[in-house]
Amino acid sequence: MLSVEQALERVLGYVDILEGEERPILDSLGQVLAEDIYAGIDVPSQDNAVMDGYAVQSKDTEGASQESPRVLRVVGTVAAGAKADCRVVSGAAVRIMTGAPIPEGADSVIRFEDTDEVCRKRDDDGIGILKEVKEGNFVRRAGEDIVKGSKTLVKGKVIRPSEVGVLASLGYDRVKVIRCPKVTILATGDELVEIGQPLPPGRIYNSNSYGIAALVLSYGGTPKILGIARDNEASLLERLQQRLDADILVTSAGVSAGDYDMVKGILAKKGDIVFSTVQMKPGKPLAFGTIESWDKDGVARKIPHLGLPGNPVSCMVTSELFLRPAILKMLGRKDLARPTVEAVMEDAKDNPTRTRIFNRAIVSKRDGRYYARLTGPQGTGILTSMSKANGLAIIPEDKEKVEKGEVLKVMMLDWDSDAL
Ligand code: AMP
Ligand code: MG
Repeated sequence: MLSVEQALERVLGYVDILEGEERPILDSLGQVLAEDIYAGIDVPSQDNAVMDGYAVQSKDTEGASQESPRVLRVVGTVAAGAKADCRVVSGAAVRIMTGAPIPEGADSVIRFEDTDEVCRKRDDDGIGILKEVKEGNFVRRAGEDIVKGSKTLVKGKVIRPSEVGVLASLGYDRVKVIRCPKVTILATGDELVEIGQPLPPGRIYNSNSYGIAALVLSYGGTPKILGIARDNEASLLERLQQRLDADILVTSAGVSAGDYDMVKGILAKKGDIVFSTVQMKPGKPLAFGTIESWDKDGVARKIPHLGLPGNPVSCMVTSELFLRPAILKMLGRKDLARPTVEAVMEDAKDNPTRTRIFNRAIVSKRDGRYYARLTGPQGTGILTSMSKANGLAIIPEDKEKVEKGEVLKVMMLDWDSDAL
């Protein structure tokens, strides 16, 4: 049986980085840049004032102090966004607002607080300078942030709010990023009922499709829910023969050893099975292969197919371990693994079948150490155990038992302490 690492390597072998597409900069958040970004302008585009005050020649402030102010002649005012059409010669000053261009001749700005501005009358044509300043004081230089022509953002970088800001500062309204993978999600099972419908006896709601779709969204993919196929070949084939136009197909259930587990059979018939079990718990019955499909133009191609187990917890845990890295790889991301921490276990746990166990755990930090306790019963049908957890505590396959106080690696699902 394949280990988690071997299975993941196989899955990643079947997916590749997708092509780039242009998007409005705000819609590109979280995506990967598909082009280098060069600056078409200097940012800022010209020398400007950091503070409200007076643009002066620094040498005119030499020796200025509270006790012995230097008085300069005010020859004009310049506001942010305006053109500085006045010149500062020796002995002159121009009233200037934050962000306004430095007028010709001036080499520094002295802020209002260092002048006698508060006592100055409207018709005074002089301003008292109370402090000596050096050349460049409170001046933001043209190109101080970004120099025209420089490579500002590098292809492969993930767009975060800061990158959106940088792009906007260069005037970009659209940017080329790796497009989002399209993930088609198909639930299988005779017992399933669509949400929003009354629940007849003996049936359960299709929670997997929604749990998977939410995970896909959180990973940066675009989910498409294809509904429910029943546990017979005809129903499954009917769904799969549509133009899926997907980068990956994800099915849930029908991959274990039951009488009605059709998915593996269909995989074998309509595609290729790469593997159908993984040495892990939950999630041992996990199928992966490729399946013949059609894009929106009717062009046939083989797409990867991840056949997740039906049990809701197994479904989510295997999504974390295999679907997430696959989506991230398609998105052009390089770091495909969730961060892990070493945590002291607050509960003991057996591993009699010597498999890799992913325990739903609540991780907290106390006195500089991480501690992990189990969320409670770990049954694969107990989906609220995923809801309570912020991490998966991993028992390695070579460990028969974990005692309280032992340290385990925990794969963190989120770092939001409000989730605890
Ligand atoms: P199976 O893989 O078909 O044997 O299903 C395993 C378990 O998962 C059964 O208890 C199913 O009822 C349950 N299950 C299968 N599909 C879903 C689904 N879409 N939503 C919630 N539970 C499911
Ligand atoms: Mg079933």
